[in-house]
Formats: sequence, structure tokens, C-alpha cells
Amino acid sequence: MTRYNHFIGGDWVAPATKTWFEAIDPSNGQAFAELPRGSTPDVDAGVLAARAAFPAWAARDALERGRILSRIAQRITREADNLTHIESIDTGKPLSQARADVLVAARYFEFYAGAVDKFGGETIPVPGPFLNYTLREPLGVVAHIIPWNYPLQIGSRAIAAPLAVGNTVVLKPAEEASVSLFTLARICAEEGVPPGVVNVIAGIGEEAGAPLAAHPGINHVTFTGSLEVGRRVAQAAAANVVPVTMELGGKSPHIVFSSADLDRAVPIILRSFIQNAGQTCSAGSRILVDNRIKRELVERLTEEVGRLSIGPGPSDPDLGPLISERQKERVQHYIQLARQRGATIREGLLGTESQGFFVAATLLDGVLPDNPVFHEEIFGPVASITGFSSESEAVELANATEYGLVSAVWTKDVAQAHRVATKVQTGQVFINSYGAGGGVEMPFGGYRHSGYGREKGMEALYHYTQVKNVAVFMDGQED
Ligand code: NAD
Repeated sequence: MTRYNHFIGGDWVAPATKTWFEAIDPSNGQAFAELPRGSTPDVDAGVLAARAAFPAWAARDALERGRILSRIAQRITREADNLTHIESIDTGKPLSQARADVLVAARYFEFYAGAVDKFGGETIPVPGPFLNYTLREPLGVVAHIIPWNYPLQIGSRAIAAPLAVGNTVVLKPAEEASVSLFTLARICAEEGVPPGVVNVIAGIGEEAGAPLAAHPGINHVTFTGSLEVGRRVAQAAAANVVPVTMELGGKSPHIVFSSADLDRAVPIILRSFIQNAGQTCSAGSRILVDNRIKRELVERLTEEVGRLSIGPGPSDPDLGPLISERQKERVQHYIQLARQRGATIREGLLGTESQGFFVAATLLDGVLPDNPVFHEEIFGPVASITGFSSESEAVELANATEYGLVSAVWTKDVAQAHRVATKVQTGQVFINSYGAGGGVEMPFGGYRHSGYGREKGMEALYHYTQVKNVAVFMDGQED
């Protein structure tokens, strides 16, 4: 069993407490690696290393930083088999989904490698003899606290975007799935990232995440995780007047109008709530459908759900296990709750998978807005179905939760598509689709309690820089 240490200042450093915790394979509940149990002294060391590395990294040519990121992208691609295997075992996700995550991880480095020398300030026309322009300068040390559902993908955007514009990074992965981030740290170092520019400190949220969020030596914190913990991280950062990007949960709706092309919609809707066993912040977990086509949609989805294969991630099924026993119990609790409140349950097959943390894909039909499963993030392969009778009712239902991450509008009516897109309160709207490629290029983030700030795309670079305005008095007399 491999034992990992923190990656601090370019070295593999044992945890100050000299204690490690187990990484668990969710398909069988067995430990397969040991991770360092980080605490305040490790976080102090990580932040110190990142602070020391910042001036030289920020002073490098953007082009040079971009070239290093480009080499990391190529290396991730070359090591894709190894990374795919690690990610599939650690998270339980099907092998093909883990491979897709690895390719997206490489794309983040590729995208920001190409973006960095095209990103800059602007000139501002002002009255009088002045030249006025803005510079985009790095913030300093950027802290990232990330979840377990897409460790490599989220870890890669957490490193690539801030590094591109001259920041250094301290990354705290989630205790449930951290292993691929140690491989990523090694790759970064081997491809030319100087010591201290990227630091990875593993550990439990309260022990390693909390001191990182509250650390006076950081200049920004990006938190990706639950609303509950997000609130605490934002409060800690506020004490140091440190800006925050919050990527929180979702309860994203599909709005399916009567003209929708169901041949296209059904497989995409299905994938949107079973991908990664539904443990996706942007899972399309609420299906709002015109009552006139509700029966047909439910029948077609039920048929698809019954056909799904389930098993350990490395066997590449449609559906892998959930991340933990706790998560499995939580999902089962919600299914039970929906049943008690009068929803009709349509379950897929569980097969013989009883050892690991498996839950079959499940449709909850006839869910009314007063049902907790309509509002609360379940984080399992579960979708609720609610009928509507008019466009305005559909929009009202779509906006009836505290979240606002993603939505999809399914219709052949172009005007309706754009009209509804302006009315739904989500950070991203898909029309007759759900997801577009890896999504690396598009700004991503939430409205309302799904968070604030944006990751991905060029937009992230604005969040990882601060703007300086320069006003030059041009009083010189012409010869
Ligand atoms: P979580 O909030 O429990 O944990 C996220 C991270 O916070 C982990 O690294 C954890 O160790 C750390 N943490 C826990 N307590 C902490 C504390 N007191 N101080 C600082 N850090 C602490 O979330 P999770 O269960 O790992 O992930 C699931 C949640 O993440 C879901 O709500 C999901 O929607 C959300 N998520 C959002 C996005 C997005 O981009 N919007 C992406 C993925 C997941």
C-alpha cells in the first residue's frame, strides 16, 4: 500500500502529527493507500513555501509560464492510463468517465497555457492630457479547498488558472479522494514548476481545510464544496479581508417543453443525473416536464434506467458506487423520504453489487415543490420529476430552490428557448443540450446559494488577478 506525504516547497514532507489516514476504494470498502493527515503546522509550511516562491514566479514572462503549463498538459496526456486508473479506484467512477476527467484536466493546462499571453489590461479614454491604462496583477498565494467528486479535474483548474497569471497555490484535496493530486503535483514539478509554486496538503476538513481558509498568509481562497462548509470558509476569509470564489451545490433543472425532441433529450437527461453516480454539482437532478408529454418521458427514462449496468469503476459500468457508506445512507434516506411524501419510485437494477456503496439509478415521479427532495441536493443517481402546465409555471418551478448553478431548456421553439434562458436564475443555461465538451472554455459558477465568482474560461483569470489603474500625465511640449 503506497504511503503519501504532503507536497510542500518541492519536497515530499511527512505530516507534523506523523499520522496518516486511509484512502478507501468505494467499490469494496478496502483501504488502498495512506494519506498524510495535515494540520496547522503543515498548512503554515505550505503557505510559507508559496509566499517565498511567489515573487520569482510572478516575475517570469507570461510566455514562459504558459510553456510550463503546456508541458504539464502533454505529460498528463502521456500519463493518462495511470491517472485514469487512480481516479477510478479512488472515486469509484467508471473508467471511461475517469478517462474523460483526465483529458479535461489536460485541457485546463492547455487552455490556460494558450490564454496567458493574450490576457491583459485595457486603455481607458479619459479627458485631458492623460494616458490611462489598467494592469492585471497576480494576487499572491491562492488557496484551494476542493471536493472528492472530480479531484483531478477540479484540482487541475485550481492550479492551471492561478499559475498562468503568476500566483502560487496551496491545494487541500478532500479526505475521501486525494490520491490523483499527488501524481499531479509530481508532474508539475517534473515539468518545470519551481519549488513552492504548487503545494498539496491532504487532510480532514476541520484539521487542514479550516486553518488554510483562515490563514493570514493567503491572498484568495477558492472553495468548491457544500453550502454549509462554504459559509464557514467565507467567514474565515472575511476576517482577513481575503477575496473568495465559492463553487457550491446545485439542484439543476431540465425544463422539457412539449415540442422537445425526446430522442435527443432522453439519453442526455439520463446521463446528466447518473454521471459519476449523480455526485456532480451540476447534476440535472430535477426534471420539469410539460404535463402533456410527462407520461411518455417518464416511460422512456424508466426504460433507460432499467438497462443501466452497475459495478466497480474499473469494470467501466454505466454506474459505479457512491463515494462512502455515509453518502449511500444519505441517498437512501432521500429516496425513502420521497416515497413517504407520495412520490412514485422507479428504480433501476442493483444486481449483485452488495459489498460496496452502490445505489441503483432512481426516478422519483410526481414530486411536488413542498417535498424536500425537490429542494435539497441528494448527490446520488436520483432525479425527481414534476409536471407543469405553462411556461410561467415551468420558470417558477425552475427558480423555486435556493440554488442556481445550471439549467437546461428543451424546446424546438427558438423564441421560447431564449426567453426562458433569460428568466432562469442559473449561472449556465443549456439549450437542447446538457454540457458542451469538457466545459473548460466556458465560465462556470452559480447564482444565489450555488456560489459567486467564476471558475473556468477566461473569466477565471479576472478572479485570479487584481486590477491596477495607471494614470500618466503627458505634459511634455512638442518640439
Ligand atoms: P464538503 O463541503 O464536505 O467538503 C469540501 C472540502 O471542504 C473538502 O476538502 C473538505 O475536507 C473541506 N472542509 C470540510 N470542512 C471544512 C472546514 N470546516 N473548513 C475548511 N474546509 C473544510 O463537500 P463534499 O462533500 O466534499 O462535496 C460535495 C459538495 O461539493 C456538493 O454540495 C457539490 O455540489 C459541491 N461541488 C460543487 C462544485 C462546483 O463547482 N460548484 C463542484 C463539485 C462539487
